[in-house]
Amino acid sequence: MPIRWRLTFFNALSIGAILVVLGFSLFLLLRNALLSEVEDTARDRALAAAETVESGEGLDPNEAERLSLGGVFVVVRDGRGEILEQTVSSVPYEEIRDPIWYQALETGQPAAGTADYSSGAPDYVYAVPIYPPDGSARVVEAGRSYEAATKTLETLTAVLVTAIVAALVLSVGGAYLLARTALSPVDAVVRAARQIGESDLSKRLPVRNPRDEIGRLTSTINDLLERLEAAFARREEALLRQRRFAADASHELRTPLTSITGYARMLKEWGLEDPKTAREGVVAILEESERIKGLVESLLALTHGDAGAPLELAPGDLGTVAAESVKAAQAAAGGKVAVEYLSSGGLVEASFDCARIRQVADILLDNAVKYTPEGGTVTVSVGQENGWARFEVSDNGIGIPAEELPLVFERFYRTDPARTEDGAGLGLSIAHQIARTHDGEVEAKSEYNEGSTFVLWIPQSRPAP
Ligand code: ADP
Repeated sequence: MPIRWRLTFFNALSIGAILVVLGFSLFLLLRNALLSEVEDTARDRALAAAETVESGEGLDPNEAERLSLGGVFVVVRDGRGEILEQTVSSVPYEEIRDPIWYQALETGQPAAGTADYSSGAPDYVYAVPIYPPDGSARVVEAGRSYEAATKTLETLTAVLVTAIVAALVLSVGGAYLLARTALSPVDAVVRAARQIGESDLSKRLPVRNPRDEIGRLTSTINDLLERLEAAFARREEALLRQRRFAADASHELRTPLTSITGYARMLKEWGLEDPKTAREGVVAILEESERIKGLVESLLALTHGDAGAPLELAPGDLGTVAAESVKAAQAAAGGKVAVEYLSSGGLVEASFDCARIRQVADILLDNAVKYTPEGGTVTVSVGQENGWARFEVSDNGIGIPAEELPLVFERFYRTDPARTEDGAGLGLSIAHQIARTHDGEVEAKSEYNEGSTFVLWIPQSRPAP
């Protein structure tokens, strides 16, 4: 059953029960009050009349009128039940077995009960026996009809029933309208929620009143949708990046492979007869294989980093790593570019994975040498600042255009001026990834045609994992 009907029924039941109990109680209270009033009047008048008769005075007209006020009748009988005086004309009473006056005379005590003196509703009769000094017995009866009280009660019942029914209809109708108005935003939310699909998470549920319960619920669902939308967008982006990465990697691998296939074909056709061609082919195949190897190693390094391969952290001196890397770079540069190392004069201590940081140093130095024309200088320095260890490589090479500088850390990105050089555009992304896994950063500064500076920052003390 819908909530609005349940609310309505619950409301109707509870209000109905309360109204019925209240109405019934009111009815009982009034009934008791009205009946008591009839009985009290009859008793009081019977006692007053008895007093008059006992004192030997008859019921003179004045007295009789006073006693009959409010529809009360008084009858005085002798010991045999013969009517001596009465304030009403006819009292068809004798037919009744054990009438009330008889009970009073027999017991010698006042007796009370109902009798049908008048037509219509029964009457309440109160009989008082008296024994005057002359030895005769008398009995005084006073009675009053319940008719007026019964009529009042009938009217009251009609009023109460009407009022209860009206109140019930009003409260049930009101409860239904209230429940319908309060719950109508739910229908709107249901309709809107049905339109939201995986492909369109940008829709939001309508919030009519953000302060009520339904408003708060829809706001929470909207927040959830927002987070879902962001998560889906991130997933899409990651998928796109992955696809681009795979496409770029295949593209980069295809070039040397095509070259190898070409040389192998050449060797097969002519190389075996001509040693010069054969050597040329083999050297080229070796070079291209080395290129593929380098590329595959870079890809592996990146995928390891992506998969969160653990670091082998140990305290070490960044200066030592720098010095070793500089030595290797000097050998590779072969004197075409000067590689200088400015020692800090002391230890630059930090906790790092030595092999990985050496890889970063090699990448930065390799780039600096690669993109610095012959006769240029590459300067390496280390230091520490505010709890960070610094490894810096500066060159006076070709530089990077300002608009391309933010892109050089992207996978496979190469600036236009670098196209002539070897490289797949993975070195800096690997360096960046390694720095990040150390909670550090690689910073790039460059002036086009002037030179570049790459700085690796790693924190000297790392928070416990
Ligand atoms: P690559 O293998 O092409 O060197 P990297 O990811 O190491 O790939 O570098 C990305 C691009 O950034 C390079 O292609 C080059 O255009 C630019 N770059 C990197 N280092 C330097 C540098 N020291 N001087 C000038 N350009 C650089």
